[in-house]
Amino acid sequence: MLKERGIIIHAQDCGDYFAGRLEQTNLNVLGIHPEGGIAAHVSMQKCIDMLETEEWRTFHRRMEKAGIAVEFEMHALSWILERDRFDTHRDWFRMTDAGERTPEFNCCASNPDVLDYIRERSAKLAKIFRPDTDKYYFWIDDVATAACRCEKCRELSASDQALVLYNAIAEGLASVNPKAKLSYLAYFATLPVPTKVRKRDNVFLEFAPLARDFDVSLFDETREKNYSQVKTLPALLDFFGRDDAKVLEYWMDNSLFSGWKRPPKEFRLNAATCAADVAQYRKLGFDSVTSFGCFLGEDYRDLYGDADLSEYDRILGKE
Ligand SMILES: [Zn+2]
Repeated sequence: MLKERGIIIHAQDCGDYFAGRLEQTNLNVLGIHPEGGIAAHVSMQKCIDMLETEEWRTFHRRMEKAGIAVEFEMHALSWILERDRFDTHRDWFRMTDAGERTPEFNCCASNPDVLDYIRERSAKLAKIFRPDTDKYYFWIDDVATAACRCEKCRELSASDQALVLYNAIAEGLASVNPKAKLSYLAYFATLPVPTKVRKRDNVFLEFAPLARDFDVSLFDETREKNYSQVKTLPALLDFFGRDDAKVLEYWMDNSLFSGWKRPPKEFRLNAATCAADVAQYRKLGFDSVTSFGCFLGEDYRDLYGDADLSEYDRILGKE
């Protein structure tokens, strides 16, 4: 059986309803996800505030009792490096192809001062978020590609630049929690393997093939779109190692299937695709698999009744 069988839900779904749903499954890892996008830092701060509430403590206790480890997965860079720092530190930020600095998306990966600042802010985050697994998921910005084009960064691919930032975050986390591990999120521009930057020991692969079709297996080589997502996967596993490698999928992501717009659409898992994908992930050496499971909470129940979690649960339990 897969060692880690997970699902990721929005922070606002952490309450009695979803606790009850999860208690009926054999899933053993729950990811909490403040919504991403442009306002990722705002929803992240809301999640931080939630951690201080009695409702959260009750929810966490129920998860603990059910044997479900709680983690937090989010686009954190705009919280770590506040965009208004641009007013005083323009050279910390990204240079566009046109040679102009911009506070939009990610930052410069070659400026030692911004890397120091990222380490310091990440140390602060390690004091706020305490995942039961010591695994942290503080991703860079939610954008297909946004690499710095300054003279120094130009030599580095988007993956190399991302790894520089993840190394800095991982170092900051480890300064507070020596057991801390951080994911490198491989999706869109960060799917190619880094070639010029070495990873810190406490960075592991999180593979998240978002730009895929779901009517066939991700590994169906006749589907070019899906193949584009997996062609670098063996090399990514070689580079990052298989020990903590994690799959972050979308089979249960009703926010994606609803076009990230409420109200949620009615959801049905494509079980054949999910089962074929999980079997192949297993063969490749993954022991940790999760999927977004957003837009399946109380507002979904009010429209369509309880979403079915059992088939997904059964597929992960079988492998
Ligand atoms: Zn740069």
